[in-house]
Amino acid sequence: MKYRIPNETIEEVRKAADIVEIISSRIHIKKVGNAYKAKCPFHAEKNPSFFVHPDRQIYKCFGCGKGGNVFHFLMTFEGITFIDAVRHLADRYGIRLGVDGRNHEKYRQKNIEVFQLLQWAAKYFQDNLYSSKWHRAREYLDQRKREASLNQRERCKVRKSNIERFISFNSSTEKTKCEKI
Ligand SMILES: [Zn+2]
Repeated sequence: MKYRIPNETIEEVRKAADIVEIISSRIHIKKVGNAYKAKCPFHAEKNPSFFVHPDRQIYKCFGCGKGGNVFHFLMTFEGITFIDAVRHLADRYGIRLGVDGRNHEKYRQKNIEVFQLLQWAAKYFQDNLYSSKWHRAREYLDQRKREASLNQRERCKVRKSNIERFISFNSSTEKTKCEKI
């Protein structure tokens, strides 16, 4: 599966990162007014024409034309991919990525919904088993010489076997309830 970082997380990383800190840890830069000046790391030059603007969090070289945000700088300077630049900065600024970020929360919510649906289905079948419409279901159960009354323990057994195929986390209260029966 292709690794994808959600756009909102990329934006979070970009906002957390300080371009001055990132660039100054790699090349020597000097404060000039509101900006920082340096000899461009991307082309040979005697007089500095590389500027870093902290207010806009961008850099620009007037000699070779290279410029961009903190991701672009890391990609060009380190020769890494965009994803690796995001990962590097996320790690440096303590931001969790991918399945440990927002996507993971969505994933977890989906599992809870599946669990609730299975609970509802189990209750529905249990409640209806003795209704007149369901006589064929009871006959089927009798035919198979199975007890037509599903007690709580059996219901939980069935539910657990199904649910455990879908639920990967172990903190569910309902699951704990079943295990205690
Ligand atoms: Zn340059």
